[in-house]
Amino acid sequence: MKNVLPTSTVGSLPKPAWLAPPEKLWSPWKLEGDELIEGKQDALRVSLHEQQLAGIDIISDGEQTRQHFVTTFIEHLSGVDFKNRKTVKIRNRYDASVPVVLDEVTRQKAVFVDDAKFLRKQTHKRIKWALPGPMTMVDTLYDDHYKSREKLAWEFAKALNQEAKELQDAGVDIIQFDEPAFNVFFDDVNDWGMATLERAIEGLNCETAIHICYGYGIKANNDWKKTLGSEWRQYEEIFPKIQKSNIDMVSLECHNSHVPFHLMELIRGKKIMVGAIDVATNTIETPEEVADTLRKALEFVAIENLYPSTNCGMAPLSRNVALGKLSALSTGAEIIRNEVGF
Ligand SMILES: [Zn+2]
Repeated sequence: MKNVLPTSTVGSLPKPAWLAPPEKLWSPWKLEGDELIEGKQDALRVSLHEQQLAGIDIISDGEQTRQHFVTTFIEHLSGVDFKNRKTVKIRNRYDASVPVVLDEVTRQKAVFVDDAKFLRKQTHKRIKWALPGPMTMVDTLYDDHYKSREKLAWEFAKALNQEAKELQDAGVDIIQFDEPAFNVFFDDVNDWGMATLERAIEGLNCETAIHICYGYGIKANNDWKKTLGSEWRQYEEIFPKIQKSNIDMVSLECHNSHVPFHLMELIRGKKIMVGAIDVATNTIETPEEVADTLRKALEFVAIENLYPSTNCGMAPLSRNVALGKLSALSTGAEIIRNEVGF
C-alpha cells in the first residue's frame, strides 16, 4: 500500500523557537557550545517525530542543525572567511551577507556526518539529506581567490563528494543537491554546472537527487516570479542535460507555479519529486488540491517514479502552517493511492 508515492519534504522545516527565532532565514542560534549541540539533536528528534506523525515516508533532518542551506556548508571549509562577510546579489535577485573565498577551498572535517548518524539511529525509515549544489554555492559567496565561477565549482564539487560519501556510509539513503541557481544560469548549467554536479555524486551507491526550484517564499523570490510570465519554461533549458546525467531523482516546483507539467516529459525515466505544496503561502493546501497536482503529474510520470513533495523548504513558515502542509501532503498522496488501487 505505502510503497508507491513515498512522500518527503524538500528539506528545511521550521525550527523550535527555543533553538532559533522562527520565520526567518539565517536565524541566529539561541544556544552555544554543548547546549547548542544538544539543542540541535533535540530539534532533530522533534522534527523526526512531527514528520512521522504527519505520515511522511522519507525522513529529512528538517535542516535543524544548519543555519542556512548553503552558507553552513561553506563555513565548514578552509579557505573561506566567514567573519568578514561581503554583500552579494544572490541569483541576480537579492542582497545577502556572504562568506569570502580567500584561499584554496578544502574540506578538512565533516560537516553534517555526526548529525546524519544521530538521525539514522532514531528511525528505520529511509532518510534523505540535502547538500547545496556546486553552482548554487558559487552564487552564494564572494570569490576573492579563484576569480572563476567554474574553477571554484569544481573545488566545491570535490568537497561535496567527500561529504556525500561519508553521509552515505552513515546510512543516508538519498542525497539531494539543492541547485536553485540552475533555474537562472542556463548557459553555465550546460557548460559546467551539470558536470560539476556529476563530480559531486561520483562513486556514490546511494540514490541521488537534484532540487531545482524558484526559491523560498520570500519577497525577492515572489517578486521575481511575477516577472516570469504566464508559462515558466526555465526547466526546459536544463532538462535535456539532466536527462543524460547520472542523477536519479529531480525535485520540481509544481503546485501554484506556472511550470507546464508536460516539461516533465523531457526527463522521463527519472524519479520525480513533484512539489505539491506551495511554500510561499500560509494557506494550507487541501488534500484534494495535493491530489489534483499529483494526478496532473501522473500524465507524464510513471507512478513508481512519482515522489510527492513540497515545492521548496519550509524554514520561513510558522510551525503550525508547516505541520498542516505535511499532513495535507500525505493525505493527498493517500487519495491517489486509493484511486489507483494500491
Ligand atoms: Zn528550493
